[in-house]
Amino acid sequence: MSDSLPPLKRYRREEDEEKSASEDDENYVPYVPLKERRKNAFTKLLRVSKHQVDEEEVEESSEVVGPQAKVSLLDQHNVLKKKAEAHKESEKDKQLEEEKRILQNISETRALMAVGELAKGVIYEHSIKTGWCPPRCVLKQSSAKCDEIRHKWHILTEGEDSPPPIKTFQEMKFPHHLLAALKKKGITHPTPIQIQGIPAVLLGRDIIGIAFTGSGKTLVFVLPLIMFCMEQERKLPFQSNEGPYGLIICPSRELATQTYEVIKFYTNALSSQSYPLVKTVLMIGGLAVRDQAESVRRGVHIVVATPGRLMDMLNKKIMNLEVCRYLCLDEADRMIDMGFEEDIRTIFSYFKQQRQTLLFSATMPKKIQNFARSALVRPITVNVGRAGAASMDVIQEVEYVKQEAKVVYLLECLQKTHPPVLIFSEKKAEVDDIHEYLLLKGVEAVSIHGGKDQEERQWAVREFKDGRKDVLVATDIASKGLDFENIQHVINYDMPGDIENYVHRIGRTGRCGKTGIATTFINKTCDESVLLDLKHLLMEAKQKIPPVLGNLESQNEDYLELGDERGCSYCGGLGHRITDCPKLEAIQNKQTNTIGRKDYLASSAPDW
Ligand code: ADP
Ligand code: MG
Repeated sequence: MSDSLPPLKRYRREEDEEKSASEDDENYVPYVPLKERRKNAFTKLLRVSKHQVDEEEVEESSEVVGPQAKVSLLDQHNVLKKKAEAHKESEKDKQLEEEKRILQNISETRALMAVGELAKGVIYEHSIKTGWCPPRCVLKQSSAKCDEIRHKWHILTEGEDSPPPIKTFQEMKFPHHLLAALKKKGITHPTPIQIQGIPAVLLGRDIIGIAFTGSGKTLVFVLPLIMFCMEQERKLPFQSNEGPYGLIICPSRELATQTYEVIKFYTNALSSQSYPLVKTVLMIGGLAVRDQAESVRRGVHIVVATPGRLMDMLNKKIMNLEVCRYLCLDEADRMIDMGFEEDIRTIFSYFKQQRQTLLFSATMPKKIQNFARSALVRPITVNVGRAGAASMDVIQEVEYVKQEAKVVYLLECLQKTHPPVLIFSEKKAEVDDIHEYLLLKGVEAVSIHGGKDQEERQWAVREFKDGRKDVLVATDIASKGLDFENIQHVINYDMPGDIENYVHRIGRTGRCGKTGIATTFINKTCDESVLLDLKHLLMEAKQKIPPVLGNLESQNEDYLELGDERGCSYCGGLGHRITDCPKLEAIQNKQTNTIGRKDYLASSAPDW
């Protein structure tokens, strides 16, 4: 038994083993590692979802590059390029969105309106009515013809019902004695800003006039105002204590004086030909209040003022704006930039009725245009060239000069051209130093800055204007609006902190069709951001780029021309966007630092 049992047992076992092996063969599931299982599940899922997702998504999920793709390298390159571009586009959209948000955050919540109007919620819907209308031949012009004229003169208008452009002073219906006075100044044909701007102002429209330096903006607001005042005087002569009818505000005493002199020239020419006398008063600091008050007491049509003295006269009730119907802010953006915003608000609050409001400048960033619009009724924006562009009649040269070598190099630089030459520096003390140095070297020089008394300032400007002095050294006080005849050369002893100030400084030369040179000293003390703005401004004006600027690259070079806005919408610089604007950052830091302080500590008066 013991012999037979084992084989039987063995047999059975073998049989069992075979059986179980054959059974296992049928249901055999080999072990699959977890990683593999996950991968399989994933491909299964992909296969299912393949029917649901659209074509584009499939393409993205099945992204295969390299030799296995069975697609030519060129096609693969195109696909990748398309993807990169799409990504970039979405980045650009994000940037635009961000910029919009910033611009909204910094835009003024308080409108630029009189308090009475704000309190009562008065909103004007119609422009001021005037007694002027275009001549029939102009009225007959089709809108296509108007567009053709605008196109020819590079005039861009924005706003409802753009008035027609008018190509001659005769067709603007100015009296022939005024035309004769213009001719005496060598003015026979209107400039582009005058072609479009003067008809708009004569029709009573509010305008924002933007045109490069020296393009004749002054006459756009001066000539219609003189006509309006003569019309008023004819209808109902101004009595004592009446007026003004028109108010012109300028950022500096020198510019106010110059504008006053331009007005006086034309009003005197007209009154000498038996036209009604239009009375004008110059209201600036540094002159006796008594004399200005006396002129106002006798009745006045036009006041040309700087904000400080004007506020003073209004606060003391020496003058009021009850019949004032015409307000012009010359170099408007500069004025707001210089910290006169609050003063301008206060001045607006003295108006008692609707007025025609005009703003002019060569630089007008979007932020200020938006802010100014709250003060305007159905405004027309007249643009000749890009706001903030430099005059094409200025040859711009930029030189790297070490700080310690500047003064000596200045003498060499002065020999580049004949006089008159203007030298700018940001600091009052530096202006004094340069002036002293030039006098020591025998150069016929004068200087002006805000630290000097008015008499000295007036004397210096007069000497320079009349050609008795060859060189004027000045702070930025002389950079806005001043119209010295035939300036040959502007030297920027330093690069201004703002590119807009640079545009205004060099705009003292190359005026009204003449050409001029501007030389700017730069070195490593200059802020890189403003140098980038300078580089792009030079590129725009097709000027030579010095290697030191050529090597500078903006971090966001691709974004500089985004949307319909070039460069920064806050400061107008072409070398950066609003998201990297150093000026905005500085202002915001300053605001944060002054939160909670008393007003008198938060003064933002410029150094000059
Ligand atoms: P802006 O204010 O645009 O910088 P201005 O009004 O000071 O320029 O004018 C610059 C110069 O051009 C002035 O001397 C002015 O007499 C002259 N001017 C103005 N209009 C004309 C014109 N239509 N033709 C010739 N010269 C002009
Ligand atoms: Mg001007």
